[in-house]
Amino acid sequence: MGRQMDDRDDSSTCTDCGATMFEGDQSFASSADTYLCFACAERRGGVYDGARDRWTVPPDVTGLPDERRPHP
Ligand SMILES: [Zn+2]
Repeated sequence: MGRQMDDRDDSSTCTDCGATMFEGDQSFASSADTYLCFACAERRGGVYDGARDRWTVPPDVTGLPDERRPHP
């Protein structure tokens, strides 16, 4: 049994799969409360440019629980 529930301020949870991410991990934030881990972001079509340190193609976040209004 490991310690997986450390409640640290520098961690966040993937909105899609629930994986815990720490500051410095590659991840995508679509809003203040919506995060995707790297695996989910790529699976949703995101393309990350490591040389530029930015997402050249943002992942599709449609359907995530925190998306309050997917359709205007
Ligand atoms: Zn994820």
